[in-house]
Amino acid sequence: MLKNKTFGVYIHWPFCLSKCPYCDFNSHVRASIDVDLWEKNLLADLLSFHDKTSDKIVTSVFFGGGTPSLMPPKIVETLIHKITNSWTVSPDLEITLEANPTSVEEKNFSALAEVGVNRVSLGIQSLRENGLKFLGRTHSVEDAKKAIETARTKFDRYSLDLIYTRPHQTLEEWEQELEEAISLANGHLSLYQLTIEEGTPFFLSYHKGDFRLPTNDQSALLYEHTAEITRSHGYESYEISNYAKPGQESRHNMTYWLYHDYIGIGPGAHSRLTIDGEKYAIRRHRSPEKWVEDVSLKKDGTHEVRVISGKTKSEEFLMMGLRLKQGIDQREFTEQVGYSFSESTNTKKIHKLITENLLELSDTTLKATEEGRQRLDGILRYLFEAESPPSN
Ligand code: SF4
Repeated sequence: MLKNKTFGVYIHWPFCLSKCPYCDFNSHVRASIDVDLWEKNLLADLLSFHDKTSDKIVTSVFFGGGTPSLMPPKIVETLIHKITNSWTVSPDLEITLEANPTSVEEKNFSALAEVGVNRVSLGIQSLRENGLKFLGRTHSVEDAKKAIETARTKFDRYSLDLIYTRPHQTLEEWEQELEEAISLANGHLSLYQLTIEEGTPFFLSYHKGDFRLPTNDQSALLYEHTAEITRSHGYESYEISNYAKPGQESRHNMTYWLYHDYIGIGPGAHSRLTIDGEKYAIRRHRSPEKWVEDVSLKKDGTHEVRVISGKTKSEEFLMMGLRLKQGIDQREFTEQVGYSFSESTNTKKIHKLITENLLELSDTTLKATEEGRQRLDGILRYLFEAESPPSN
């Protein structure tokens, strides 16, 4: 099966200049970073996967964070060089790096392009000063526009990230901002609705009543308009929050959504890797300091490994695949999970969701409708929850 013969590589750089109030990613602010130690340990962590993957082809590399655009380009170069020299890589290898549009990072763009990065995902988040201020971002709208112009000249491809459903944001305001973003974009947009995550400063201030978010109905309307506007410019909503012109989809993220293999190195990184017919879940320690300790001691950041059971594989496959507009391919499901689609899924529940216009089933695929994709968390909870025992 070719899909288990290819894999993506995720590299986590966990540091940021400051912490945004909505962010629950594994990102940290540190006064100083021992870059030589980080280079050595990321390299060792990468090579710890070599024996298990040397017969597979690398199709994508993704530097995520944190803020990997603050990584010294020398480390990015060392890692790319090691990957392209130690593994077979596909001829159209996609190498993406997440970047923030501050002037410091924009200065790194030339060097990053020279060492092989061919796609950047720019976290511009808003094209309105009040939006950036609310989100606690340290760049300005002008910085964002300048960084986009630099990205246009330096990289083959770039994507823009924006956050909407911000407090007081009207439909008209978002439409204008989105049209502007589309005019600056280059075939790919990630458009996220603001969510309030536990443990973040926004969680506290939201629950104190400092600000309010749009209602569910308003958010649904904004989501539908987003799909319509992007579609009118030739973008397809190929995943819940991702919009692309044909051929511009993120190949690395498609690896996750298609439940293909990937390895993750650096603090908190996860892997899904098929070895001798078994799929493994492998995890690194989330704390940067603990991860450094693990790798320094063992030359391998593995913190936990487990074989994924058939039931979990089936749930993970659905959880990922139903995010995609194309849905899941039933034959692929059987190949990856090891059981037939009808054997492993609850047909009664699926049919109930079809009658509610949330899912669509054909002979070959299962898809969430546009409404279903907006309510995917609830659909998955319903599909996976244990059946109540029949009452007497
Ligand atoms: S820059 Fe990104 S990763 Fe860092 S704190 Fe802000 S949202 Fe989180």
